[in-house]
Amino acid sequence: MDKRIICELWNLGCDLYFEESLAHHVNFRLGGEVPLLIVPSSKIGFIETLKLLRNEEIDYRILGNGTNILPTDERKKFVVVSTERIDEIEISEAVVYASAGVSFKSLCLAAFENSLSGLEKAFGLPGSVGGAIYMNAGCYGWETAENVLSIEVFDGKEIFEMRPDEAKFGYRSSVFKQNKSLIVLGATFKLVHGERDKIWESMVETMRKRYEKQPLEYPSAGSVFKRPRPDFYVGTAIESLGLKGYQIGGAQISEKHAGFIINRGNAKASDVLELIDYVKSRVKEHYSIELETEIEIWD
Ligand SMILES: Cc1cc2nc3c(=O)[nH]c(=O)nc-3n(C[C@H](O)[C@H](O)[C@H](O)COP(=O)(O)OP(=O)(O)OC[C@H]3O[C@@H](n4cnc5c(N)ncnc54)[C@H](O)[C@@H]3O)c2cc1C
Repeated sequence: MDKRIICELWNLGCDLYFEESLAHHVNFRLGGEVPLLIVPSSKIGFIETLKLLRNEEIDYRILGNGTNILPTDERKKFVVVSTERIDEIEISEAVVYASAGVSFKSLCLAAFENSLSGLEKAFGLPGSVGGAIYMNAGCYGWETAENVLSIEVFDGKEIFEMRPDEAKFGYRSSVFKQNKSLIVLGATFKLVHGERDKIWESMVETMRKRYEKQPLEYPSAGSVFKRPRPDFYVGTAIESLGLKGYQIGGAQISEKHAGFIINRGNAKASDVLELIDYVKSRVKEHYSIELETEIEIWD
């Protein structure tokens, strides 16, 4: 990359990692290198970085906590901008603002510390606020959209507030998924005052369920496939085909939850992709259902 652009990024206060392996930054712990990983140190630095990359027509992707991404093994042509240091939380009454890089865990804990209820079911949801808005992450009957009051957005030129109806939230989708030029800078969540002990009990119960049902001890990107319709449980279907524990290379269908593919330690992205295709073909053959991936493949 042009030295002038590198100097500008340093002047903006970004940390720069050259020829960086994405395996160090995604929860799956696999994937090839990117020429540059940029870590802005503030929201302003993030915005100015995005402006610069757009002006220079440099292809980039945004990285939250990397819990829903499967980067392929090859070296990428695009650069990556991480939100990890954009992590402010502000609380006023029952309204909480969190910037894009705040982890959902920190957001839930901040709500608890202020006796605010509404996010208990999200405790233990991996990922950042930006990532959760992008895919309208959800669990145990709750989804991100439920508590969103407004979203702070950057469209490459301007910063503006978006209403939840404009975000077009749907099942694991939003306008941000459809239009990648819209970047989440932060979001405001509407909660309600509640009883601290009850909030805590509910959070602990959610976390207990996760540990019981999900293979959290292994690297993964969570549920691999979207539910094709509300009454079709992908994990149960995969299990019914006798595929629990099925392995290709270092990638394995979790013995604990057949909806997860785990990295047994030495998986390549190509192993995971092969396993995904295999599962898709078996499910199609048996249930006549075309599965779609929920995880994002970065190639
Ligand atoms: C063990 C495990 C359990 C999981 N359980 C669940 C679950 O119960 N429910 C669920 O819904 N998901 C679950 N997931 C998936 C994942 O946690 C969610 O998708 C999460 O919201 C992703 O957030 P992230 O910050 O890690 O996003 P990343 O993986 O970093 O990115 C995902 C996508 O969001 C985009 N993105 C990130 N930040 C921004 C931003 N600021 N602006 C615009 N785009 C952005 C990225 O470019 C990328 O396309 C699980 C994952 C794991 C590993």
